[in-house]
Amino acid sequence: MAPTPPPSPVQPAPCDAPRPAGAGGTLAVAVLGSTGSIGTSTLDVIAASGGRYRAALLAAHTSVAALLEQARLHRPEWVVITDPGAAATVGATALPAGTRLAVGPDALDELLRGPGIDRVVSAIVGAAGLRSTWAALDAGKTVALANKETLVMAGPLVTRLAAERGAALVPVDSEHSAIHQALRSGGSDEVVRVILTASGGPFRTRAAETLAAVTPEEALRHPTWSMGPKITVDSATMMNKALELVEARWLFDLAPEQLDVVVHPQSIVHSMVEFVDGSVVAQLGPPDMRLPIQYALSYPRRHDGPARRLDLAQGLRLEFEPPDPRRFPAVRLGHEAARRGGTAGAVLNAANEVAVGAFLAGSLRFTDIAEVCARILDRHEFRAAPSLDDIRRLDSWAREEVVQWSRS
Ligand code: NDP
Ligand code: MG
Repeated sequence: MAPTPPPSPVQPAPCDAPRPAGAGGTLAVAVLGSTGSIGTSTLDVIAASGGRYRAALLAAHTSVAALLEQARLHRPEWVVITDPGAAATVGATALPAGTRLAVGPDALDELLRGPGIDRVVSAIVGAAGLRSTWAALDAGKTVALANKETLVMAGPLVTRLAAERGAALVPVDSEHSAIHQALRSGGSDEVVRVILTASGGPFRTRAAETLAAVTPEEALRHPTWSMGPKITVDSATMMNKALELVEARWLFDLAPEQLDVVVHPQSIVHSMVEFVDGSVVAQLGPPDMRLPIQYALSYPRRHDGPARRLDLAQGLRLEFEPPDPRRFPAVRLGHEAARRGGTAGAVLNAANEVAVGAFLAGSLRFTDIAEVCARILDRHEFRAAPSLDDIRRLDSWAREEVVQWSRS
């Protein structure tokens, strides 16, 4: 039997009280991964907020020039460079007046725990995002979560931590933002099914037999969303949807049987919730991450913002179709990891991260990504209720297994 998940911190009722804002009603926001796709969209939202939000801390790993440019524009109190080698290249006069530099993940965690931060946007890519998300939740902060890997790896531990510390997790991922919004129209005991939409990526109609020959350039050409390279490849394999199934399970405290995926090429309906009376409640908007990012900052309220608007006068075609299991074997892995829980998500995530890196480096075929993930998921030493240490150990093990597999 699956372990009983802890209560989700994102159910509508417990989150409905707005968090206190800092001085002058302005929320001091820490943007982790500020140089990435979500990070730069977050800074757009902050810049257009008319003083509702300010960037108090910006963190990146190695993109020093881009980070310093952001610091000049946004004047945060802190910039954090997590890679010490990259930080060593920052000259003494590079920072604007009033901005200080901190170096390394320990320094980042300490700043996130401090009183100067009201809200944390967790947008580091990959497993590296877990520790800072954990530090922020441990300090009772509200986290706008883009880093889905945090919940895929350690969902039950993370949601339990948030509940114990009175912290809140508000999703940034567009599907989960849509589900979060749709869930506000009914009680959690009235939910029958949660349907995640997927664009189907660039290979939705490409013949399955030709997918082994897909190049990184082809996989990086997403038809509807503009995103960082890792998640763009995940969208092409539909591993992104696999990870999102696991994310949804823990975030909304759902049974695995309640989770479904439908392909929707226009990326306008961002996901849906079916209730007991047969009503299906959906959230719609153009594919523009600035809307879910802003909702995660403004929740439980809404305000005007920079995201594109739907123009219904132009006409709107919405299509839906089931995902093709031959083209997209990764989706099954997501259902499996959501059903098994325990260490399955962490192992799937780690194997996929390394496999995507190897594919982008030209040492693994596109179709090998799902295949190697399936094998490693099958072979791993499963634990139903792992500790963070178990998760870290299996994460390293799965990474090494992919390296061995790509060499063989
Ligand atoms: P990008 O690759 O565009 O950006 C990644 C960011 O993380 C950069 O700022 C990068 O810094 C930083 N980073 C990378 N490695 C580390 C590390 N080891 N330690 C600290 N920081 C690091 O990614 P995206 O913005 O596309 O995605 C970010 C997260 O949001 C992912 O988890 C993704 O799944 C999720 N997400 C993204 C969506 C999108 O539309 N892009 C949609 C939904 C979810 P540097 O530039 O210095 O390398
Ligand atoms: Mg998504």
